[in-house]
Amino acid sequence: NGERSSIGDGDSILPLPESNDRKWSDTNVYARKKVLQFWVQLPNGNWELGKIMSTSGEESVIVVTEGKVLKVKSETLVPANPDILDGVDDLMQLSYLNEPAVLYNLEYRYNQDMIYTKAGPVLVAVNPFKEVPLYGNRNIEAYRKRSNESPHVYAIADTAIREMIRDEVNQSIIISGESGAGKTETAKIAMQYLAALGGGSGIEYEILKTNPILEAFGNAKTLRNDNSSRFGKLIEIHFSETGKISGAQIQTFLLEKSRVVQCTEGERSYHIFYQLCAGASPTLREKLNLTSAKQYNYLKQSNCYSINGVDDAERFHAVKEALDIVHVSKEDQENVFAMLAAVLWLGNVSFTIIDNENHVEPEPDESLSTVAKLIGCNINELKLALSKRNMRVNNDTIVQKLTLSQAIDARDALAKSIYACLFDWLVEQINKSLAVGKRRTGRSISILDIYGFESFNKNSFEQFCINYANERLQQHFNRHLFKLEQEEYIQDGIDWTRVDFEDNQECLSLFEKKPLGLLSLLDEESTFPNGTDLTLANKLKQHLNDNSCFRGDRGKAFTVAHYAGEVTYETTGFLEKNRDLLHSDSIQLLSSCSCHLPQAFASSMLIYSEKPLVGPLHKAGGADSQRLSVATKFKGQLFQLMQRLGNTTPHFIRCIKPNNVQSAGLYEQGLVLQQLRCCGVLEVVRISRSGFPTRMFHHKFARRYGFLLLENIAAKDPLSVSVAILHQFNILPEMYQVGYTKLFFRTGQIGVLEDTRNRTL
Ligand code: ADP
Ligand code: MG
Repeated sequence: NGERSSIGDGDSILPLPESNDRKWSDTNVYARKKVLQFWVQLPNGNWELGKIMSTSGEESVIVVTEGKVLKVKSETLVPANPDILDGVDDLMQLSYLNEPAVLYNLEYRYNQDMIYTKAGPVLVAVNPFKEVPLYGNRNIEAYRKRSNESPHVYAIADTAIREMIRDEVNQSIIISGESGAGKTETAKIAMQYLAALGGGSGIEYEILKTNPILEAFGNAKTLRNDNSSRFGKLIEIHFSETGKISGAQIQTFLLEKSRVVQCTEGERSYHIFYQLCAGASPTLREKLNLTSAKQYNYLKQSNCYSINGVDDAERFHAVKEALDIVHVSKEDQENVFAMLAAVLWLGNVSFTIIDNENHVEPEPDESLSTVAKLIGCNINELKLALSKRNMRVNNDTIVQKLTLSQAIDARDALAKSIYACLFDWLVEQINKSLAVGKRRTGRSISILDIYGFESFNKNSFEQFCINYANERLQQHFNRHLFKLEQEEYIQDGIDWTRVDFEDNQECLSLFEKKPLGLLSLLDEESTFPNGTDLTLANKLKQHLNDNSCFRGDRGKAFTVAHYAGEVTYETTGFLEKNRDLLHSDSIQLLSSCSCHLPQAFASSMLIYSEKPLVGPLHKAGGADSQRLSVATKFKGQLFQLMQRLGNTTPHFIRCIKPNNVQSAGLYEQGLVLQQLRCCGVLEVVRISRSGFPTRMFHHKFARRYGFLLLENIAAKDPLSVSVAILHQFNILPEMYQVGYTKLFFRTGQIGVLEDTRNRTL
């Protein structure tokens, strides 16, 4: 880019970069020449490069591209990096680390299909929305041999394997980002690499085949992503001592059940429904009394049946093949499809009013009889379960007739439960198949692909849970990268200027505090028979207004100040979604079925009902089963997850969505910037660069590299050996510090030692 050469006299108003940058720039030859280009923010919010024509008083005249001239306040100008730093593969290398510089660098690389960039220890991945030539065996080989060192998911996976073996510590790859940013694809790319390096037993093939299954049952087309995961997933891949994959285990989080019965215009329900309708063989169609997707109310309501470029029938065959591979028997597969058809037919069950109190009975039509046949129950019992409710009051049982809206709720609750149980059951089958190497002597690498922070015009219970999870993950991220690091420096007597960082503990307390936190109050209100969304909202306002992260809004709304921004939640539906009741009548119905899947579902639901951890939920709405509330169960899962991750060395990948329309080549600065801020990428770079991110215990260091020493000082203590190594390899004093127990290095320093070691071994 030749025309961006230097010009004269801007020096006088050169805004000083942040202090960290200044220290850095002093040693930087380009910075010493003074940077004479600046970033100017245009009225639309985008940044453009410009040169200063003249400065008078507080204002400067700037020429931007195509000779356009702007007059701006001098203090708003932001220094740009010299051309030679265009497209560096680690943001840490930038002389000026400001927002436009980061945006420009990512965009520069993105335009050349270099979608991966390091931000210190974090990998940033910008979704290309097209095929890029970065994957496949040849690339895997290049990263394995380290002949390609540009940032990549493969490089992260490679580091994870090496550190797992070297440090004998479990690893995790934590992938985050908004919906459509590329998390699930990234997780698959990481799995590919692990499978290629740790493969051999054949189990890796099974592990890869879990993806099409889980995507068919847990992904759907949304307005943001044609293949949006509606659940969170942690896959733990086990390795033997020799570094070979020996098995795996999958845990899923919070499947969006409501999608089964309710779906917005232009979106779809779960892929598998459309795949089944399009791909089932004539025999299967007859067995399940299957018709086309357009005939089912649950699928019809959103008026969207297909996805561009996707052949549902073809996918159906791929799913069946994958099920074969993870050892789900043909018979069980047919049972699974029968459950799917039962859910679809349930949605077509309609009701007629039978008295003047609006009580109803299901229409005895094809839908009702098909459901009964598919789940293997008596049609009269199904009718009863959908029109009446048994309630136990003291020792008596009274029978209550259902009104139209209650009956529809009961029907939809049954459909949702069958689907959610089916999903869990499938995961369980997959886990049985993957648990080959039962003796888990080796180590593991876990990959977490979980929904990112969500903020829509209308935010409900789902966003509430998702954003709560993201607060926890963000704290993990912060703690790992900032707090632990800082504490470790201080503990080890390292001189390191303290860096403040944002902590989101206040917001987490808002959620978790007992008894006066969002979750506790929600659960409490869920146990009150007369609790409504409005009484919940009022209760929250009454008790939480003191928390600086909380604000009560008008009506049923409240706002939480999340680390990534404020989100206003509507409490509408909160209590019902949190209670998530399936009437005991419906559970009983399932347990009376002659088919084994509904029976299994019923007993899995009964297991919950024996653990009444959350007050007397059975009082709510007259149902008499005691179950964990959804929020409490989710919190439990989340704590377990954090505990598991806490025992691993984490590797973070932040996925970025460059536009909202899923198109290739379109990079919207504002959108990218907002995501970079949300995930703390900018702070990470600033802090990492000023610190010593690589560290090793003296004894480990001495043991690992001691044999490279020319003079024999093996008898000496680890510290002396370590220092001798540092001298022999001419590691510059400003590149390391010696702590009480550990050595601390700036990024990239230990590479020379590792290379020599590898060559010598
Ligand atoms: P998320 O899981 O974050 O919601 P996905 O991983 O499903 O997002 O990605 C959304 C879409 O973006 C994918 O279906 C794919 O079309 C595209 N995509 C994401 N990552 C890549 C990639 N590395 N290469 C090509 N396309 C990608
Ligand atoms: Mg996804």
